Amino acid sequence: MKSEKKNREAGIPQSGILKRERPLIIAGPCSAETPEQVMQAASALALDDRVDYFRAGIWKPRTTPDSFQGIGAPGLEWLQEVKKETGLKVTTEVGSEKHVEEALKAGVDMLWIGARTVSNPFIIQEIADSLKGVDVPVLVKNPLSPDIDLWEGALIRFLRAGVNQVGAIHRGFFWWGKSNMRNQPLWHIPLELKKRLPHIPVISDPSHIAGKRNLIHLLSQRAMDHHLDGLMIEVHPDPENAWSDAAQQIKPEDFYDLMNDLFGDICLATSHELLDELRAEVDTMDDMLIWALATRMELAEKIAEVKKTAGLSTLQTGRWEQVLQRVKEMAAISGIDSSFIEKIYNTIHNQSLNLQNNRIKTNGAHSKKEHNFAL
Ligand code: PEP
Ligand code: MN
Repeated sequence: MKSEKKNREAGIPQSGILKRERPLIIAGPCSAETPEQVMQAASALALDDRVDYFRAGIWKPRTTPDSFQGIGAPGLEWLQEVKKETGLKVTTEVGSEKHVEEALKAGVDMLWIGARTVSNPFIIQEIADSLKGVDVPVLVKNPLSPDIDLWEGALIRFLRAGVNQVGAIHRGFFWWGKSNMRNQPLWHIPLELKKRLPHIPVISDPSHIAGKRNLIHLLSQRAMDHHLDGLMIEVHPDPENAWSDAAQQIKPEDFYDLMNDLFGDICLATSHELLDELRAEVDTMDDMLIWALATRMELAEKIAEVKKTAGLSTLQTGRWEQVLQRVKEMAAISGIDSSFIEKIYNTIHNQSLNLQNNRIKTNGAHSKKEHNFAL
């Protein structure tokens, strides 16, 4: 494969990795809360032999300091107990060298790097260096922002440190507009990552994409339709009362149903449900388009002020030709019909000129109108 040759040339190791015959399934609560909660979740999940690893967050990198920050190192003993009692392999999130050291000492079988940590190459390098010579699989979540290079860069740091089994977790991307999902799936990004690093498995984490239980089935189905390599699902014995991510965790019974639906003979995602999910993605793209248009118009008004002060006319033909040329080229790269883009841009340009002319006519009086970006 072309990118494998390119990667070899770029010094990216091709070794080991978690390649497997069937999807990799990781399940368990968002956070380890109490020894009883951990054991209850694990015993239920151990009954399903499709589960490869039991997950539970011990150290929780929460957005706000007032949320539950994780039980910390004492929870590692509960994971040891899970291994002993159920035979399940266990995995937890690490965000520092110290976490790695403690987790490995406790016999944690696989580590994952969270979305907030992966954005910091200093920490990623430190964690990667601390894993030199250690044979433990590492999964790297995508960063909060849709920056594929940052995600790929983190994976390469682990590969170059000699970690043999590296994988990626797609958990969706932060978007500040309104949406019915907590994070946007932007499926083309994990698919592009698979093209860039074909030997690295990419699994999906529908729990963190959805942010709510009722979308998990659909998103899991989409991940499988896209041939991703597995799933990480948050499962809790009493989801409504979970100490973190309560809205998105599912009960063990619902997890069994999900597995049966996904991997049994019948595919239960109806076209109606798939349509709903695709429409939700389209709605998010519309949110982004409106935000971009509102911002563009606001910039055009600012430009009008500058043109007025400089005594320039509103229409600057040379600049408009450049803009049109640039967007048509971008359209061609993105596989969009360039005459369609030209039509849209003519409309945008006319509106922009109208706004600029009005602004100049009103003697530059600044409109008090604020754009509502649906923050
Ligand atoms: C988690 O897996 O519980 C978690 C905190 O995920 P993320 O890093 O994707 O937000
Ligand atoms: Mn969580």
